Amino acid sequence: MKAVLLKKHGGLENLVIEEVPEPVPKDNEVIIKIHSAALNHLDIWVRQGADGRKIALPHIPGSDGAGTIIEKGAKVVGLKIDDKVIINPGLSCGICEQCQHGQQSQCRSFGIIGMSINGTFAEKIAVPFENVNPKPEHLNLDEAAALTLTFLTAWRMLFSRAWLKPGETVLIHGIGGGVATSCLQLAKLAGAVVIITSSSDNKIEKAKKIGADYGINYKTDSDISKNILEITNGKGVDIIADSVGAATWPINFNVASKGARIVLCGVTTGAQAQTNLQYLYWNQLNILGSTLGSHSEMKEMLKAISAAKLKPVIDSIEPIKNIVKAMDKMEKSDQFGKIVLSL
Ligand SMILES: [Zn+2]
Repeated sequence: MKAVLLKKHGGLENLVIEEVPEPVPKDNEVIIKIHSAALNHLDIWVRQGADGRKIALPHIPGSDGAGTIIEKGAKVVGLKIDDKVIINPGLSCGICEQCQHGQQSQCRSFGIIGMSINGTFAEKIAVPFENVNPKPEHLNLDEAAALTLTFLTAWRMLFSRAWLKPGETVLIHGIGGGVATSCLQLAKLAGAVVIITSSSDNKIEKAKKIGADYGINYKTDSDISKNILEITNGKGVDIIADSVGAATWPINFNVASKGARIVLCGVTTGAQAQTNLQYLYWNQLNILGSTLGSHSEMKEMLKAISAAKLKPVIDSIEPIKNIVKAMDKMEKSDQFGKIVLSL
């Protein structure tokens, strides 16, 4: 079968398409014929081998995928051949204390498909059956592939970690990336008032079309913090959903309301940042980390988006042969929503 194969860490030129052996299912695995995959920022780190993410090479990247079950192991239950499915990329051991409590993303040996094992940028993939869910009926396979990693991440951030309630104000940094657009869509679904930031007026307009109440251009705006405080009548925002990290972190402490929740799921601009400790204790802020989500959060998220017939924002769909072009676009942050690869 054909797959994107990473033979050494480094630049985009290391993403090549080659023939590789077909996957063989273990007893607890299904083989999925991938119809569509989607890019995530994680794919860049995996390719670069950054932040200690050096992995066994050669490696097939890709964490999001949707397709059809074509084979299954002897111990697979609840799934059948020809089912149209999506993949939950979080890998957990199933036996540690956290797994026993249903907190799979806090598993002591937590991993991610496309990072810890071969990923979805291939014609076929072997996946543990616990990680496979039926495709929501209202989504086609391109939309379904664009859903999982970012919507599951956003769901856990907003609802499990930051306890979002209707009417609260949510600030989302760097609209355009997959997690940010997913946070926007889910926060609006939950009845929140949403403020987004971006360096692009074009992205701000697109975000307003899918529900953003306020948009601030952090490149042209002389004082973002002042602007956000004005929007909230001086109170500050209740929740900050941050996947940007170093570049936005100091702003969070200027604009958080008393008792606000600052929830971080990624650091696309770097992991080292300054925290105003005085603001932290005086304003009684909650700093929360969040990673992907559990099997039950996945099911809750799918139920909610199916009921609302919510579709993930897709920036573009590219054939797999254009992997370098697609990845380059994401690396330059030129996208608004998910970039999908068709196999
Ligand atoms: Zn575990």
